[in-house]
Amino acid sequence: MRIGTLTIVGVGLIGGSLGLAARRRGLAGQVIGVGRQSATLDQARQLGAIDEASLDLADAVSRADVAVFCTPVSLIAEQVLAAAPGCAQGTLLTDAGSTKAAIVRALDGKLPPGVAFVGSHPLAGSEKRGPEHADADLFQDRVAVVTPTPRGDRAAVERTVGFWQALGSRVKLMSPDEHDRALAVTSHLPHLLASALAAILPPELRELTATGFRDATRIAAGDPSLWTGIFMHNRAALIDALGLVQDQVIQFKTALMTGDQAAIDALLARGKRSRDALGS
Ligand code: NAP
Repeated sequence: MRIGTLTIVGVGLIGGSLGLAARRRGLAGQVIGVGRQSATLDQARQLGAIDEASLDLADAVSRADVAVFCTPVSLIAEQVLAAAPGCAQGTLLTDAGSTKAAIVRALDGKLPPGVAFVGSHPLAGSEKRGPEHADADLFQDRVAVVTPTPRGDRAAVERTVGFWQALGSRVKLMSPDEHDRALAVTSHLPHLLASALAAILPPELRELTATGFRDATRIAAGDPSLWTGIFMHNRAALIDALGLVQDQVIQFKTALMTGDQAAIDALLARGKRSRDALGS
């Protein structure tokens, strides 16, 4: 795949990594980064993530062959709607947002003829933010989920798949709802639990934390406003996922209250089997 102009909206950790990866692989003739403040864009340009910076969303997206929206999930649909009317026929719009159903639904049937939006979510990242933490290899050998819809443009889906593959990712196709239900369990629930665990630590116990507490709470350091948007988009699936973990916690609590050693052992063994199956 070869793109003339790639526009990245939101050059933070994910957008910056996309720019670095695309430039290193010669995927695009030029990479334009769009943002709301010059400081981030200047930094992204100095780091080599973009060739050109722009504060004008509509103009930068109108010049794109492919534009990827890497802003918080609560902004993506409104930014796509604001920019799409200026796009040429054949422009592909996609995103990197951590939720899919609300974004895809908000855009369904709302784009000009010949301009397609296909939802994407690269399953790669970290709790850090900003282009200073961008990594050209972030998407290498990672899964990128692409979320076609029944009424969507098949050729645009193929181009989106090709885009992520060109960055080294393995693509998995899922419906937007299927994606959100799965990610509630594999990403959004872990973030909620890490945050809850971090929050209950009293300051006087900080010096007694070691690898276990730090490993289990690392992701709680993620940007709260980014994650509030994710939780709000995926409330129903996250509530269901929370129910699954509540059941486990109640089983542990009951076994502890009754001193049921076999039950505690069985619960821990089940967790170990599941974690071991993930590999390192
Ligand atoms: P990030 O490093 O904080 O970058 C977010 C970008 O969006 C920055 O360029 C930021 O601009 C811009 N932005 C934030 N609020 C804005 C606003 N109100 N108006 C305009 N621009 C705004 O976050 P990220 O981790 O790259 O996340 C970007 C997207 O990728 C999100 O949709 C997230 O769900 C998704 N994602 C994240 C991960 C992960 O692990 N981090 C993984 C997969 C997908 P400023 O520089 O001006 O703040």
